[in-house]
Amino acid sequence: MNVGENLSRIKKEISESIKLVAVSKTKPDEMVMDAYHAGHRRFGENKVQDLIARQPNLPQNIHWHFIGHLQTNKVKYLAPFVSMIESVDRLKVLKEINKQAAKVDRVIPCLLQFHIAEEETKFGLDMAEAKALLESEAYANMKNIRLEGVMGMATFTEDEERIRREFKLLRNIFRELKVTYFAEEEAFNEISMGMSGDYKIAIEEGSTMVRIGSLIFGEREYH
Ligand SMILES: *Cc1c(COP(=O)(O)O)cnc(C)c1O
Repeated sequence: MNVGENLSRIKKEISESIKLVAVSKTKPDEMVMDAYHAGHRRFGENKVQDLIARQPNLPQNIHWHFIGHLQTNKVKYLAPFVSMIESVDRLKVLKEINKQAAKVDRVIPCLLQFHIAEEETKFGLDMAEAKALLESEAYANMKNIRLEGVMGMATFTEDEERIRREFKLLRNIFRELKVTYFAEEEAFNEISMGMSGDYKIAIEEGSTMVRIGSLIFGEREYH
């Protein structure tokens, strides 16, 4: 497994304007450092415990994206350093991010995670919930978060048409939110979709940010 070579192969395939989040979950710090030495700076983790255990031991100029389900009582551990929280799936967690970010005098970039998969098991908002969040007084008063776009995960399936349909749905959600709520805000630009198995389809459907783990670091032992 040559992490540097894997990274450069993927980077050659995708346009420079697409952000690559290297998902290092379950992989040793040494592999993160291999990617770091190859010039990579943007990494993703999906468990708060794992991220806060490794972050102090790794270079401080790494941009950490949190991509997993987030419990409100753990937000405080991420607030001092996290570069982006991609998995905001309810108002309550956004409120807590805003509160903890204020304590450390930061503005934390966030994405709204949408439930786009036809399977039931994935987390995320639907359009009605997102609208309620964006129209709430609580959201209007938040000064320490900045919504920069949307995130979603397609169904884990071989059925490419189904994956494509789910990514199209996320792109349409993004467009509708952009014109309705963020027309004046330049920062609302990201569509985070695409993983090792489906990033090519995601890019064809308008992804601006892909989150890739196993193609860079090898298969994981567990999920
Ligand atoms: C694990 C994970 C990824 C990366 O998965 P791979 O299939 O290994 O590329 C992307 N996004 C999220 C939210 C994840 O949890």
